[in-house]
Amino acid sequence: MFEPIRDLGSARILVTNDDGILAPGLAAMVRVARALCRDVWVVAPEVQQSAASHSLTVRSPLRLRRLGPRRFAVEGTPTDCVLMALNHVLKDRPPALVLSGVNRGANLGEDVIYSGTVAAALEAALLGARAIAFSLAVGNGAKARWGTVEAHAPELVRRLARGAWARDVIFNVNVPDRAPDRVTGVRTTVQGRRQVGLQIDSRVDPDGRPYFWIVDYSDDAPLGRGSDLKAVHEGAISVTPLCLDLTHRPSLGRLREGLA
Ligand code: MN
Repeated sequence: MFEPIRDLGSARILVTNDDGILAPGLAAMVRVARALCRDVWVVAPEVQQSAASHSLTVRSPLRLRRLGPRRFAVEGTPTDCVLMALNHVLKDRPPALVLSGVNRGANLGEDVIYSGTVAAALEAALLGARAIAFSLAVGNGAKARWGTVEAHAPELVRRLARGAWARDVIFNVNVPDRAPDRVTGVRTTVQGRRQVGLQIDSRVDPDGRPYFWIVDYSDDAPLGRGSDLKAVHEGAISVTPLCLDLTHRPSLGRLREGLA
């Protein structure tokens, strides 16, 4: 277990994301971090990296650009950013906490498998740090209510930092798309699962050549009891503990018997 952080005010926080250094959600995450402490660092991707998952840049150079005091951009993925921050930029004094986000769009159910936002938090956990991924469940093209995250996240982070926190575990937080005072509470949830996945859409470009576009036709129903999907659907902030160990323990016994 991690030692509880009782004095977050004197801690160091690293902020990263997958929507890129210019994303409004990153600015919202920085405001959340600054509401908690003064020593806030940003290391984020130069460009949009959504659905980058846990990819790592190993076949091209990794460029680090200093944009100002405690602010850096990496020509790479969210995973690259966390690695660059923890093993280079902040090597001498690692952050007590890593905040990833705020992602524009929910990271619920199987989204976490594709998510760069969640991957950045998992990378921090791999390197021994505490991390929380934040996503706002805003629909495509809709105006994002970052203020809802800013209203609720600082107190939530304080409570998570003070509470029981196992090593190799991150918290995946999803905030519903509604006004701050319309949020129905904070719920502890499990990772849900949607009904349908992604489809390949066949299209034709203006030159008459075919191309394909991956389209998400996922249906949020069934929402599943106690799931992250259900909590956000019902207007609550969802907090799901996720872990690095992907082993399916219930299968171990049967597997041993089958391979004996
Ligand atoms: Mn994203």
